[in-house]
Amino acid sequence: MAPEAGLFLPFGQEGVLRSALAAARRGRLAQAWLITGPPGMGKRTAARAMVAAQFCTAPTVDGDPCGCCAACAALVAGRHPDVHWTDAQGKLGVDEARAMARAAALRPDGVLSAFVVEACERLTGFAAAALLKTLEDPPGPALFLFLTEHPDRLEPTLRSRCQILRLRPVPVPVLAAWLRSRSEPAPTAEEADAVALASGGIVGRALGLLRPSAALGAPIGTAPDPSPGGANLGAALAATTLAEAVAAAALLAERRTPVEEMLAVLRDLFLVRRRVLHLAGGPAGAMAGDALATLAPVWSDGALFAACQACAEAAEASAFHVNALLNWERLLLHLQRLRDAC
Ligand SMILES: [Zn+2]
Repeated sequence: MAPEAGLFLPFGQEGVLRSALAAARRGRLAQAWLITGPPGMGKRTAARAMVAAQFCTAPTVDGDPCGCCAACAALVAGRHPDVHWTDAQGKLGVDEARAMARAAALRPDGVLSAFVVEACERLTGFAAAALLKTLEDPPGPALFLFLTEHPDRLEPTLRSRCQILRLRPVPVPVLAAWLRSRSEPAPTAEEADAVALASGGIVGRALGLLRPSAALGAPIGTAPDPSPGGANLGAALAATTLAEAVAAAALLAERRTPVEEMLAVLRDLFLVRRRVLHLAGGPAGAMAGDALATLAPVWSDGALFAACQACAEAAEASAFHVNALLNWERLLLHLQRLRDAC
């Protein structure tokens, strides 16, 4: 099972996680949580902290697990008898779901049984059904943590029974300051700003950009396969009238372009403006460097920061089944206002 040594709350997620821990302590007999966020955001670390907090015998004054007591040590070593952890490579079918339901019916050694399921969107409808009764009518004290970067792909019946813990991007200035304080050798202020922005506020990605060999998930500094969507995104950013923005939104929605692609382009634009695109190894988004250079002059740094924020919120909304066309229209009109105010 479980993760490498060290027990801590993921940087930038302490507030939301402590709220969840407090809710879990007040909680009912059985609880199911859905922990969402893109790769590198700290979902596993958050899950480990939530589980450890149930067993830790010497929590801090904030209620955080100590990381040192016998229970925390057993958890970190992957040997806690009441913790059942299915990692992203583990099998996850009906048989595994039934096995979890059976294990939840057994009396735990300690206070409860904990189940962590990484990449839980792999649960099929039948597998989710095998777990539903356990979640609705628990035979004993249990904590279920489902981790995913695709909450929209999860069986709705399962999702509706979970409390949602959304890990959010760390504000760029906060992440940049943290990178400068902890990375060795420390990046310059300009590098830290660029890396924090290019990472989209995702700690694991930022660390990966500073140390490419340790990258978590897709290395954002490497340009993906050339995408025909680059031209559509460019047209959307160049739109100057309401009609052009609405038409661009319709095209992006029709092509099912993920909002994250616009976010990657906006980050690249910022890096072009700051003349540090090379630090990220070239464009991460679907637009080429010369096209970015054409668009960059009409933006200010501040407007791009705000645009990235708006885009991140739209991307988060899109993961929860909002209407794609309306989401794009709202976003493009917002971006147009931000750009025109420069
Ligand atoms: Zn402890």
